This record gives sequence, C-alpha cells and structure tokens, in this order.
Amino acid sequence: MDLYTPITRGNRAMKMYARKLEKLGIHTLYDFLFHLPSRYENYSLISKIAEIQPGETVTIQGQVLEIKTNYMRGARVKTMQKALVADDTGTIELTWFNQPFLTKMLLPNTTISASGRADNFSRNKTLSLQSPEYEIITGNNQAIHTGRLIPIYPETQGVSSKWLRRQIYTILTQHGNELKEYLPETLLKENRLMDFTHAVQEIHFPKDSETAEKAKERLAFDEFFFMQLAAKKRRAEWHAIQKGIQFEIKKYDKQIKACIASLPFALTNAQQAAINHILQDFQQKTPMNRLLQGDVGSGKTVVAAIGMYISFLNGYQSVLMAPTEILATQHYKTISKLLEPLGVTVDLVTGSSKSIKYQVASSKNKEKNNKTHDTNYILHDTHIVIGTHAVLNEKLQFKNLGLVIIDEQQRFGVEQRSIIRQKGNNPHLLTMTATPIPRTVALTMYGDLDLSYLNEMPKGRKKIKTWLVPPEKRKAAYAWIREEIKEKKSQTFIICPFIEPSETMQTIKAVNQEYEQLSKNVYPDLKLGLLHGKQKAKEKDETLQQFSNGDFDILVATPVVEVGIDIPNATIIMIEAAERFGLAQLHQLRGRVGRGDKKSYCLLFTDSKSVQTNTRLKAMETTYSGAELAELDLKLRGPGNLYGTAQHGIPKLKAATFSDTLLIQKAKLTADKLFPSLSLYPELKKQLNQTLSANISPD
Ligand code: ADP
Ligand code: MG
Repeated sequence: MDLYTPITRGNRAMKMYARKLEKLGIHTLYDFLFHLPSRYENYSLISKIAEIQPGETVTIQGQVLEIKTNYMRGARVKTMQKALVADDTGTIELTWFNQPFLTKMLLPNTTISASGRADNFSRNKTLSLQSPEYEIITGNNQAIHTGRLIPIYPETQGVSSKWLRRQIYTILTQHGNELKEYLPETLLKENRLMDFTHAVQEIHFPKDSETAEKAKERLAFDEFFFMQLAAKKRRAEWHAIQKGIQFEIKKYDKQIKACIASLPFALTNAQQAAINHILQDFQQKTPMNRLLQGDVGSGKTVVAAIGMYISFLNGYQSVLMAPTEILATQHYKTISKLLEPLGVTVDLVTGSSKSIKYQVASSKNKEKNNKTHDTNYILHDTHIVIGTHAVLNEKLQFKNLGLVIIDEQQRFGVEQRSIIRQKGNNPHLLTMTATPIPRTVALTMYGDLDLSYLNEMPKGRKKIKTWLVPPEKRKAAYAWIREEIKEKKSQTFIICPFIEPSETMQTIKAVNQEYEQLSKNVYPDLKLGLLHGKQKAKEKDETLQQFSNGDFDILVATPVVEVGIDIPNATIIMIEAAERFGLAQLHQLRGRVGRGDKKSYCLLFTDSKSVQTNTRLKAMETTYSGAELAELDLKLRGPGNLYGTAQHGIPKLKAATFSDTLLIQKAKLTADKLFPSLSLYPELKKQLNQTLSANISPD
C-alpha cells in the first residue's frame, strides 16, 4: 500500500472505516495527511503532580496505582472510572465517565501520560483531571495525544480525533518519505516557505504554534499555487484549440442593431460592454470561453439572447442550459418572446416538458413526434434549445451547434459542462453566474476564463429596503405584511430555513409546518402557496405560475426560489433564520423582489442573540452590492463557513482562506514564473496532475 492506494484496497482494519472516512473526504492515505487539524489543544505544559495549580491545563506522567469503576444512579452517566496516578512528587486522581474498558487498559503499574484541566472536582478538594486525554508510555515511543500541541480534527461519527491522530502519526512514520518537495529551492527561499515534507509533518504534530502557522502557510500557498497552475493549464489547452467557429459580425451589423433596438429598454453600459467582448471573442480562431458575472437582476439573459441571435444569423444553433426547470421555462419564455419575431425558432427541453410545444421536424422521427415530447429524437432544425440537464441526453443532437450557454454554471459539474460542449465542434462557450464572488476568489478560481462583469443595474431599479427585525417585532411585521398585501395588492415570499447540503426531509417538514402554521394562525384570511424542492417539477411550475398569476398572496418556500425567478408583483421577501445564510446568498434571495415598479422590502428574522451575527446581518440594511457582501462574508465568517459554498462553486480550501490576498498574490506570481518551464519540474507536474484529478479547482 502506498500513499495513493485507495483505502478500500488496504488492510481489513482500515477497510472497516472506509465508509465513514469517505464522509470526511478521505479515500487514500494521502488524504489522511491532508485532513488538517481545525485547531490544536495545547497540552505542552508538562508538570510535576505536586506543582499543578487548579485551573491549569497540564500534562502529567506517572504510574497508575489503582483504577476502579463506580456505578452511579442517574439519567445519562452510568459509570465513572477513577484512577489514582503517582509521580515522584505526589498523586492525582483521573476520572472518566462511561469508559469501563479503561480498567482493563490502565492496569496498576502502567506508566501513562495524561493531559487535561486540573480542578477540585471531588468533595474532599483533592485535585483531579476530569476526562483527560491519556496514553500509555512504553519504552521510547513518542507521546502523540498528550504533552504537546495536540491536533483536533474535523470528526464524524465513529471517527474521533484520537483515532485520526493515531492513523496520521502511523502514516507519517511509514510513508512520510514518499512525500517529495516539488518546488525549486530558490522559490522556497524567495517566498520564505517551509519545506513541503516538513510542513505536512508539522501541521499535524507541530513543535510549537509558530511552526504550526508556518506549516499551514506553506500548505495554503500550495493550494493557491496549484489552483492557479491548473487554471493556466486549462487556459493553455483551450487556446491550443485553433479551429473554433469564427462568426461574421460586420455582415450582420444591421440585424444586431435592430435586435437591440427592439428591446423594451436600453442596454446598460455594462451589458453593452459585455456584448462587445462577446463580439470580439466570436471572431477569433479560438472559441470563446467567457464567464459573465453579474448580480441578480443585472440583465444577463438579454446578453445571452443577443449572443444566440448572432449564432443564428451565422447559421448556427445555440443551446442554453439552466439548473432548474423553473429557470429554463422562464428563459424559454423570455427568449422566444424576444427572438421568435426575428425568425428564430426556440425549443424547451426539460425532464417533463410534455406540455410545451415542440417543433421537431425530422422525417425520420415524424411518427415519434406526436406522442413523445421527451428527448427521444434527434433535433434537426431548431435554432435555439433551452433546457435543464435534459439537454445533456445523448439522444439530443445538434446539426451545427455554434454556441453553448450555461446559466448558473457553478451548479453543473465538469463532466456536464464538457458533455454539452461535445455536442458541437468546438462551439463558443459562455458561462453565467449571479454568485457574488469576491474578486480575489474569482481571479484565483477562474484564471482560465475571460471575465465580463455586469457591475451596473438597469436604470430605475429601486433599492430594496431591508430590515433586520427583532423577535419581539414579529407580530407587528406580520400585520404590516398583511396591510401591504391588502392595500397594494402586492405579494410576499416567506423563506424558511434550509439545512445543508441540500433540502432534506427535515427541511420539508419544517416548511410544511410553517405553511400550516401561517395558514391557520397568522393569515387565515389570505391565500398561501407552498413551494419546495422535493415537489415534482410540474407541481413547482404550477405553483409558481399560480403565484405569478396572483392566485396566492404569499408563497412559503425553501430557498429553491433563490435562482432567477422573476415575479414583478412580489414586493416583500421575509427570510426566517437568516443567520443560516451567507450574506451573498441573502442578497440573492432579496433579488427575488424589487423586479417591478413598486417599492420592495426584505425582512430578515433571526433568533440569534450573538452580537456578531446581528452585526453581520445588519450589513444587509446598508450594503446593496453582491460582491461587497460576498467580501464581507469572507471576512466575517471565512469561506469555510459559507453556507452553500459548494453549491456556489467556491472550492473548499483546506489550509488557505480566500481572504488572504497577499498569499494569493504570491502564489500567482510564482505560478506565472514557473508555468512556462513546467516540464523542467517533473515532481511539480505530477503534483499538478494530482491536483487536477483531486478536483481542488472548480472545473
Ligand atoms: P439576471 O442577470 O439575474 O439573469 P435577468 O436577465 O433575468 O437578470 O434580468 C432581470 C430583469 O431585468 C428582466 O425582467 C429583464 O427584462 C430586465 N432588464 C434586463 N436588462 C435591462 C435593462 N438594460 N434595462 C431595464 N431592464 C432590464
Ligand atoms: Mg438569470
């Protein structure tokens, strides 16, 4: 077994843990080494028993004199283990709860090392260590659980820090020499980085906290460094494609202008700029690979539509893929309305698009046409296909796909993004996201893409008045909402909390209960609808359609409404348990309202008493830029704490944090410097390939 052998092929003892370890993202011995401590317990103060002060966290070493189990009456604690341990200065009592096996392990005369907080627990005021970490000392084996800085790891059921510590220690001893430094020495010196093998050792079993910091910095550097190298590699590979489809632009200048003029509004400067970027890209030999970033409501759809129109003018098909049925349907409506008058045909393909009209004219599939409306056919002459994942179906083929657009791209995997591109012959690619990603993060993650940013909202958008509502004002808030609904005939979203990583049965139960509760006790006089992710797509669509028609006053929903739906008459969004969301996500939810001309409001509720949480949420009252809120999130909670980060495509970092701009800069400079001569560094290349396959990067 080497560092990269899957655990499932290892020894029996390890195999038994494979399932549980998977939950921690550990598949190989190597992964163990990169399961980094979340913190350290400082047990480095080693004390003689007689010198211990109450309240001190200490490590003692001594002999077990006696150990026994006491049986206790009581609810939770059934047994208590008491050991008396002596060194040459005195004795101390060690106590544990419900660990009867200890009496067999810590036999009298064993030498043990134990760490914990010393207190006067027992009635007779003798000093004792309660539930200390302990280990048996034999011969010259090294203490790993006591007497030093002790790593505490993210755990999962059945996998304790102590167990992990033992495994990692053993792996380091047996396989540590398989780790190789891959950075050239000069670069290490230049960036003042700790040597790699040393860093892996020290992050787990550091000499002192300063060394732990240095070790972490080195591993953090590597994360950014490889992320950027990977981006550079992807970029180079993309640019090696010299046979993209070069679209004609000048020839169609008039039509493009007419299309833009037919819009019911003037484009914002940012939209115009993004379109100009796209026009430039379209004419190159290398296919476009552009990311269009822009807050909710900044108007990405129309940019996409114009791109697709140009593809049509050039005689090519386009496909737009969106992550949910609701969104795909909405795009379908917007885009057909805009482009069908110009002679463009548009189709919708979703898992359940039976109800939607199809215009598939293929002689081969004629007989199928009238009964099936799923993807059981080959598409021939539709100009634009809009759909969900259903467009990935292998039976759906294009005659000549020129442009692929992926909305909310972070919701799709690498695989899916690649499948859709392969339906054409090097088609242009435009990916879109509303996720407000801090600039540093965007540059690190998307180093391989060209970026356009819609940093400007369409004119006339009003700010959505936002309040953090204290619990005692809940009743008043409910009453105010009722008034708004009755007087202004407007509509309201009530968003119930959700549980990571996705909607679970618990969430559904919670939202059902809330719906019942509100219908019965709070708003018996109003019409309420319910929307959650576990409903059938058809049901969801119907509910949204009804809400959009004004059949409901209030829509109680889970954050499934987060992505792009557009209901201009909804003017209030009330968000429960707001503390569970990242600011950027709250901002996206808030973007569900304020889409019409009426003044709109966002009410945030939290039961949290934490000053920090309340300060964080208060930022929503004054900050209206998604990117700024994302930046704040990063500062206040750290990327590890962002809810829904995985969903939003921000890669999980182990040692690094995206707020460390200095380190990002350093890593970028180093990557720039090394990339051209990558072939000179075989170890580095090997590591890069591992990074690429380990999926640290978002792509
Ligand atoms: P998003 O960037 O979130 O996908 P959309 O494309 O859905 O935003 O646009 C949101 C709304 O703004 C739509 O109703 C759209 O018609 C409208 N819109 C887009 N661009 C403009 C503009 N330049 N001026 C006014 N309204 C616009
Ligand atoms: Mg959108």
